[in-house]
Amino acid sequence: DGVRVSVLGLGAMGSALAAALVRAGHETTVWNRSPGRADDLVAQGARVAATAADAVRASPLVIACLLDHASVHEVLDPLAGDLAGRTLVNVTTTSPEQSRELAAWAAEAGVAYLDGGIMAVPQMIGQPGSSILYSGSADAFEEHRAVLDLWGDSTWFGEDPGLASLYDLALLAGMYVMFAGFMHGAAMVAPAGVSATRFAAMAAPWLTAMTGGFHEFAKVIDGGDYTVEGQQSLEFSDLRDILTASVEQGVSTEVVDMVQRLIRRQIDAGHGKEGFARIVESIRHPG
Ligand code: NDP
Repeated sequence: DGVRVSVLGLGAMGSALAAALVRAGHETTVWNRSPGRADDLVAQGARVAATAADAVRASPLVIACLLDHASVHEVLDPLAGDLAGRTLVNVTTTSPEQSRELAAWAAEAGVAYLDGGIMAVPQMIGQPGSSILYSGSADAFEEHRAVLDLWGDSTWFGEDPGLASLYDLALLAGMYVMFAGFMHGAAMVAPAGVSATRFAAMAAPWLTAMTGGFHEFAKVIDGGDYTVEGQQSLEFSDLRDILTASVEQGVSTEVVDMVQRLIRRQIDAGHGKEGFARIVESIRHPG
């Protein structure tokens, strides 16, 4: 305890991160572009800085939780001199290349840089199930581990600063496509008078059980042989019935078409007898 920490950006997420620091007894300085957002935190014991420069100068550890890559540069570019010798943990969502660019900028300025990808919503910060992915400076991660662990499980993936963002966005890609799949199913059954709530009660345990298949697919993908025994073939995985039923129900076929196209490309290339996991080849090699 006693480590001074500054948080730049008091949106929903930055406020949650700062509140966890205050709760744990850290001397916490906060700054936000628009005034007024620090009021609750100040009531809890945080100190508000009038400028971003004041906030940076207040602590050896600076957290940036802003909107995007451009806003991080907008706020920090004029403060390179103030940041020198400090640690910057940037948990703003950026692409892997943007994270690498920010790390290079920080290195140039003499700033230790750690990039973070938050796998949680603000209400989960500091609660079980919250996980934050990090990459970049190993020393910074080790030195500030106790602070980072206040927000959730912290995992460091390597010195390449782009890795945390890469894993973060890869996991979100899986999540969004799964959510779209759920929405599609809900839209299909709606004309039959089935509420989304009722469908969710069926879909959640079904999809949860199906995630067991990830490991089987992964074995085949990593083994590189899509002909191994015991797999569901691409031909068997034809989604025509699902598409027909979707049309009958009067709903869009976009979500299912997307998967059907990935399957089709492999069948057309002569791989119909091979396993479903082979659609990863359609994704790895854009058509
Ligand atoms: P909000 O929209 O609630 O807050 C955005 C923050 O960025 C505000 O403090 C805003 O300041 C500030 N900001 C925007 N543009 C600028 C700028 N040009 N200069 C200075 N400050 C700026 O977003 P969140 O707090 O939810 O998200 C923050 C980051 O955390 C994002 O990168 C997001 O992707 C990431 N994240 C969020 C999650 C969530 O569930 N909320 C989950 C995982 C990651 P002002 O008040 O002045 O507008």
